[in-house]
Amino acid sequence: MTRAAPLAVWYAEHGRHDLPWRRTRDRWAVLVSEVMLAQTQAARVRDVWPTFMARYPSPAAMAGVGLGTVITEWGHLGYPRRARWLWESARLITEQGWPVNLRSLPGVGRYTAAALAAQCDDADVPAVEVNVRRVVERVIGRRSTEREAEQAAVLVGRGLRGRDRLLALMDLGALVCRARGPECAACPLRRRCATRGPLDGERRARQGAFAGSFRQRRGKVLARLRAQARVPAGELDAEALASLVADGLAQVTRNTAHLP
Ligand code: SF4
Repeated sequence: MTRAAPLAVWYAEHGRHDLPWRRTRDRWAVLVSEVMLAQTQAARVRDVWPTFMARYPSPAAMAGVGLGTVITEWGHLGYPRRARWLWESARLITEQGWPVNLRSLPGVGRYTAAALAAQCDDADVPAVEVNVRRVVERVIGRRSTEREAEQAAVLVGRGLRGRDRLLALMDLGALVCRARGPECAACPLRRRCATRGPLDGERRARQGAFAGSFRQRRGKVLARLRAQARVPAGELDAEALASLVADGLAQVTRNTAHLP
């Protein structure tokens, strides 16, 4: 009998199997989770995903409401372009079915397409998001392109395939091989790891400070539009409003701003 790989043993014991979206293979449900997780911490997504899925259990359920409703219910998750992408995807899927190439859906890039294939279709494809990338780059001891990181993920995650490999590396990056203060002593990959710590020159990709940022200004305008159906455009931050209009997240009709 062959012994299970240390990463597989660690994942079975310590993986975040209780995250609610891990209990489904439904493509729509997993797409919603991936879009939320792209820029929001899992702990926060855990709070909102079940409610969102109860409201929009299928693409048709979301396609049946206006974009403004989805933006309002996106609430304070931030980066509201994601709400628009989901709504546009819901309409496309409802009208035409799931596309063969998932990357033709708005906001779905290489990682999300591969993550959906691995998690929902049992495809043995590597997918590399920020946590996976940090783990594999530390193990191989160098920075890599996305494609190199995908190949490295297959080697680093040997003993696991597709979905389990992705989720095991993702969880290891989130829980053990953290951006700051990796716990190498508790890591199942330590024997194979080239760095046993951050890479030289590794810098955490930081989001700029939210306070005082343009993102915050956009957020304030959007909050006002969520709370009030119609607002005189002159009462709003003009630059932030123009940017929301350009993104399709707000409209101005006869000098009155409102959600789409
Ligand atoms: S040994 Fe340390 S740096 Fe290497 S993969 Fe494990 S936690 Fe990350």
